[in-house]
Amino acid sequence: MINKVLVANRGEIAVRIMRACREMGIETVAVYSIADKDALHVKLADEAVCIGKAQPKDSYLNIESIITAAVLTGADAIHPGFGFLSENAKFARICRECNIKFIGPSPEMIEAMGDKARARQMMIEAEVPVVPGSDGIIEKVSEAKGLAREVGYPVILKAVAGGGGRGMRIVWQEEELEKAFNTASNEALSAFGDGSMYLEKYIVEPRHIEFQILGDAYGNVVHLGERDCSMQRRHQKVIEEAPSPCISEELREEMGKAAIKAAKAAEYENAGTIEFILDKDKNFYFIEMNTRIQVEHPVTEMITGIDLIKEQLRIASGKKLSFTSEDIQIKGHAIECRINAENPAMNFRPCAGKITELHLPGGRGVRVDTAIYPGYNVPPTYDSMLAKIIAYGDNREEALSIMRRALAEIVVEGIDTNIEFQYDLIHTKEFDKGHFDTSFIEKNLEVIL
Ligand code: ADP
Repeated sequence: MINKVLVANRGEIAVRIMRACREMGIETVAVYSIADKDALHVKLADEAVCIGKAQPKDSYLNIESIITAAVLTGADAIHPGFGFLSENAKFARICRECNIKFIGPSPEMIEAMGDKARARQMMIEAEVPVVPGSDGIIEKVSEAKGLAREVGYPVILKAVAGGGGRGMRIVWQEEELEKAFNTASNEALSAFGDGSMYLEKYIVEPRHIEFQILGDAYGNVVHLGERDCSMQRRHQKVIEEAPSPCISEELREEMGKAAIKAAKAAEYENAGTIEFILDKDKNFYFIEMNTRIQVEHPVTEMITGIDLIKEQLRIASGKKLSFTSEDIQIKGHAIECRINAENPAMNFRPCAGKITELHLPGGRGVRVDTAIYPGYNVPPTYDSMLAKIIAYGDNREEALSIMRRALAEIVVEGIDTNIEFQYDLIHTKEFDKGHFDTSFIEKNLEVIL
């Protein structure tokens, strides 16, 4: 078993991982930047090592500093959380070379899935449905034109190295294609260091449905049901829930089987997510696999009773999965709202500063995953997510009523937040009925604000 875990992350996910470690009797090491010296993850860890300046490249993305911290503290494993180095194959490889267990899949797997065009190819070979589109990367505009004519407009150009909703461009007609291709490719080159693009048919007004996967080192793979992440803004998730309010038992089974097939084809180890989009006729298509724990993992934990971080730690320790897909019982309904430091009225401008007053909701059915506390200074340098409010009830109606009262209760003073926006969003009749798709926020922004 792993004895000491270095958590190569910050914020709520670092705290979440340390809590799981503590419950399992595993020691923890925090790493932090100068800007995070007062952060909660530093206070909760058994040991803490400052690894550099505020800018991520100098600290949370600085592989040498992190590995040095692990060696100095005698950590035998590193949990990367999400973002930062969590999907960095080079980092996973260096961990392996240094004899430190990277809590996640192999570097080869991260590499294969990190190249989204390659992942697509792999799914086609495994007979998992993918969105109609290119067979790999597109070298020339003429190639993109031919293909777009074949699949029909609109199409979406995607960077093979893209992530976090960035590096995508929708093209509605042929006249726009050349310019879009060149700009998107240049943008991808400067943002991700790789300008390679691929093309997919753009599915209009789809739902985003993803399956949580766990795989062990012995080839056992299970799925833990789906999460519906259709409430998005600019291709980034805003609210997630499980189970999805829009799929039937038969479709769930069919998609679950495809997700397992996808993970097995990849010989996937540890926790991962297979993402699909679902069109209006309920056809589903693979879009990508994420090789890490996800922000929205708590909704799956609530409905399955399985602690995903503990499972990650067990799998990384070489333990066999102790359950099969059939053993997993889905019970109740969970909804998660992401609370961000941003101002929705000012185009969601991120905000930093001191939290002068704080009241977090509680009571039956409420879980709050956060690293903020009264007097905490939110640094301007990192992701704007402050907290995740998770409501759990016997059914969707109850979970929603719990979320409504939790969001009515929460108080965060001193900085701008999206709390009111989230409150208004979960009170729309579309959310109430579960009738919305990934374009809902963009189309209704004025009304919600
Ligand atoms: P990222 O890695 O940046 O999150 P994804 O490929 O997972 O990118 O896509 C993120 C979101 O973009 C999806 O949830 C969906 O809303 C939208 N999207 C991606 N591909 C398509 C597509 N082919 N058609 C319609 N929407 C898409």
